[in-house]
Amino acid sequence: MTEKWVVGVDLGGTTTKIAFLNTTGDILHKWEIPTDNREDGKYITINIGEAIEQKLQELGQSKANLLGIGMGAPGPVDYTNGIIYNVVNLAWEDNYPLKAKLEQVTSLPVYIDNDANCAALGEMWRGAGAGAKDLVCVTLGTGVGGGVIANGKIVQGISGAAGEIGHITVIPEGGAPCNCGKTGCLETVASATGIVRLATQKLNGEPEYQGKLMEVFKNKGKVEAKDVFDCAREGDSLSLAVIDEVAFHLGLVLANLGNSLNPEKIVLGGGVSKAGAILLDKVQANFDRFAFSRVKDSTKISIAILGNDAGVIGAACLVMNEN
Ligand SMILES: [Zn+2]
Repeated sequence: MTEKWVVGVDLGGTTTKIAFLNTTGDILHKWEIPTDNREDGKYITINIGEAIEQKLQELGQSKANLLGIGMGAPGPVDYTNGIIYNVVNLAWEDNYPLKAKLEQVTSLPVYIDNDANCAALGEMWRGAGAGAKDLVCVTLGTGVGGGVIANGKIVQGISGAAGEIGHITVIPEGGAPCNCGKTGCLETVASATGIVRLATQKLNGEPEYQGKLMEVFKNKGKVEAKDVFDCAREGDSLSLAVIDEVAFHLGLVLANLGNSLNPEKIVLGGGVSKAGAILLDKVQANFDRFAFSRVKDSTKISIAILGNDAGVIGAACLVMNEN
């Protein structure tokens, strides 16, 4: 092997995705290992180090050809020192020196950023944002993640908390509690969890409604975000009302981000973004309604195309940005 490789790691609460990429961002090998949270999470970095060594051996490749490791981590990260401040889904103590620990076990340079920022970098480098240097990425999954790229660089802010789009307040009074400790964040409305919460609230609050979503609710004892979208496509009134509410808040937030940053692209990713036209047409309509006219004409909303690979590709991009 003469070509240099880069390692991309996407750390999750239950699984860790690892990939070897070339320097133009093509994934050459990718695999997953379980995230081992035992004993305050001390095995997490050790296992990643071992998994990389093992795969190199399997492939008959030398570690000397690895430029470094980029990692997306699920929590606020200080990019300069690689400390992860606090993590809800992992067993580490607050202010965990993740970069130092992983460098210790791998003897490779390690660069760490928040997972949503990595997804944004991935989409910029090889995804829906290809070519755009000014881009906002919003990941609508179990939570809502955000990344802002200005002039090709992630905007970090003074303490690494820039781009926390999921925690923009959309319901100032009486909003639902958010994982971050506040109430009424975008995440409480536009995440899969938020959509389920809104739907369940309406199902319980409107006893005279007897539509399709109620049937699903009675059969399964619960509804999922996908059920809401499926029923809405069949014209179910309650499901459509849920989507109107989600699209209003999301479209308004995106318009205000557009008005602040006027990015070339706003890329929507995550499971909820796969809902298609039933959601996105309404998000676009609200964006158009609230965006400043030049923003409306120049900032385009696109759907992420890398799917689950955005994280490892963006993590590898961290290494490329340093080489
Ligand atoms: Zn929040």
